[in-house]
Amino acid sequence: MAEECIFCRIAAGEVPSDIVYQDEDFLAFRDISPQAPTHVLIIPKAHITSSAELTEGQEGLVGRLIIVAKNLAEKEGIAKRGYRLLINCGADGGQVVPHLHLHLIGGRRLDDRLG
Ligand code: 5GP
Ligand code: ZN
Repeated sequence: MAEECIFCRIAAGEVPSDIVYQDEDFLAFRDISPQAPTHVLIIPKAHITSSAELTEGQEGLVGRLIIVAKNLAEKEGIAKRGYRLLINCGADGGQVVPHLHLHLIGGRRLDDRLG
């Protein structure tokens, strides 16, 4: 755990959050500033700063991260109409919290295009 990392602190239960799912390796909680009716962040409990830090041996972790998101989309009732999965990386990517997280966003039409 990175002591100063807000998402590590959420994963450790030190900072409250609206948790929607957790297992041994992942935690999912509602974004504090939701951009849509469903806005959930899915994180690995282990501290990984960003996608830039991922290594070849972590394909399984990344795959499971997406499967957790897919299952949550079904649970939230947004799977049929569709949703967006988003990972911001680094300054230009707009990453604010330096702990890898996957945004699950849906429940409204997301018309904005990236870039
Ligand atoms: P990023 O821009 O790094 O991809 O997104 C970080 C997200 O984390 C933002 O959408 C922001 O609203 C959310 N966030 C930041 N701090 C907290 C917090 O303490 N609790 C929760 N639930 N979400 C947070
Ligand atoms: Zn962390």
